[in-house]
Amino acid sequence: MLARAGLLLQYVISRDVPWLRPVGCSVSEDGFKCDFISTSGEWPNESLVRKIEKAIVELESSGGVVPKYVGLVSDELVRLLGRSATYEVNGVDVFLESEVKPSEKVVKAVLIRNISAHNPTKDVSLVRLIGVAFDDLSEYREWVEYYEEAIKRDHRVLGQKLDLFDFYEEAGPGLVIYHPKGQLIREELIKLVKEINSRLGYSEVYTPHVYRSILWKISGHYDLYRDKMVLADVDGEEYGVKPMNCPGHILIYKSRTRSYRDLPIRLAEFGTVYRWEKRGELFGLLRVRGFTQDDGHAFVREDQIELEVGNILREVFNLLSLFGIARENTRIYLSTKPEKYIGSDEAWDKATQSLKRALDKLGIQYEVKEGEGAFYGPKIDVHFRDSLGRWWQCSTIQVDFALPERFNLEYVDSDGSKKRPVMIHRAILGSIERFMAIIIEEFEGRLPTWLSPVQVVVVPVSKDVAEYALEVTEKLKNAGIRAVEDLSDETLQKKIKMAYEQAIPYVLVVGRREAAQKTVTIRGRGNLQASNVPLDTFIRELINEIRERALSQKALTNILGRSPAREGSAPQGREPSTT
Ligand SMILES: [Zn+2]
Repeated sequence: MLARAGLLLQYVISRDVPWLRPVGCSVSEDGFKCDFISTSGEWPNESLVRKIEKAIVELESSGGVVPKYVGLVSDELVRLLGRSATYEVNGVDVFLESEVKPSEKVVKAVLIRNISAHNPTKDVSLVRLIGVAFDDLSEYREWVEYYEEAIKRDHRVLGQKLDLFDFYEEAGPGLVIYHPKGQLIREELIKLVKEINSRLGYSEVYTPHVYRSILWKISGHYDLYRDKMVLADVDGEEYGVKPMNCPGHILIYKSRTRSYRDLPIRLAEFGTVYRWEKRGELFGLLRVRGFTQDDGHAFVREDQIELEVGNILREVFNLLSLFGIARENTRIYLSTKPEKYIGSDEAWDKATQSLKRALDKLGIQYEVKEGEGAFYGPKIDVHFRDSLGRWWQCSTIQVDFALPERFNLEYVDSDGSKKRPVMIHRAILGSIERFMAIIIEEFEGRLPTWLSPVQVVVVPVSKDVAEYALEVTEKLKNAGIRAVEDLSDETLQKKIKMAYEQAIPYVLVVGRREAAQKTVTIRGRGNLQASNVPLDTFIRELINEIRERALSQKALTNILGRSPAREGSAPQGREPSTT
């Protein structure tokens, strides 16, 4: 079906749009992608795309044809690019399969949902169209509903609406600028991982953003990552902005003679890295040029891999549960030795077995991706599914034999001999930017209280209780709660509506009765309300809700004596650190 739609798209375009020449097409689970050379350098606009969609459906309903060959100009592109093997444009393969097998099903609906342009060289303009197609109209309508839901949650839209972050043309594409509220969310995520790091025994370090290229040559990133690195000549010497944090941590390891008793040595950093993705591939916080990883490196003996990885995995699941992601909505992949690899077979075997044992001990189901490990070692990736059913990768745990080799890392073993440690790279959230995008979409911007930039807004019913509103706000702030007062001239209803639109979890309404009795009327999400509650009671309950990083508005439900709505589906707090 999708393949047929892709072929029809190529056919209709080659018939109706002379300046777009089809290069190739590919299909995946969620749609088709077709690439075109744009001879005029233009992109098709929305109205042209809608016409093309219509033409495809018309062609099909008139008994249509499935052209197997539509005059692909793949060879021409090969010539234009001056390369002959595989093509990568903007970090993804341009050349997909140039021949896709058409299916017999008739395309009833087609939707191009993304148009992007790439310039692999100065003279070549490529346009990529990504779309979906259906042979069943009710399926199509279902999809549209889903798609609209996804758009409503789009983190880019919510990021602007809630004043969290933005991208600025003059600052450069793919470079996110966090506004105060976005930074507060970031800080909360960092605080969470800092606690995890301390439980896991990681020491935090800080390393520069720029190194001499010589370091990137030793680490191998210069060869592997150069296309995506920002390099600059300064005083006749070349420097590179870091695409990864590993080399700095390795230098720390190397600064001392290490004994087998010192290991594991664990170093962590919220390291901001820069990878110059092509402009056409950038997408909100999900694909940026500068991002911060909750990075960490453990230098271990081979016999320590299993325990180390097991501890990290346990924390990964704890963390996901905080966001309401249950185990059944995760997928774990273990990627094993690829064809090209470094390190001995024995070391690979031992490390892979250690990873398997770590997973088994925790009773974690996983899929083995045979031969899909990195050339430097096996790895575990954790994916999870959000409430729209989309899968995301977050955590990664990678065993590395290569960097210890390249940097000649050693430790002195119990018999006095020198041994090579193994490095474990790990990120729990992955990239803070990406994780933020995912949770903003998952919660539709209505983050749990602990993550909300503003946790409480205090609204006086009338001017004569403004002073009490200020007193309440002050008390909340003194208790470490992020509270603001709204003393504007708007009506009460308008103020409550604004608080709702700004996704603030709690609105405290105060009038004369509240002022006289030192109480507050609490309005939470989902129309929950508790009237005339002693302020101290609310503060106490709210502090608990925040400290536990509860998913639900426990403070309010506790006060109301009800159980939180989401309690059954997701654990409320973290396991104690001793487990
Ligand atoms: Zn690393």
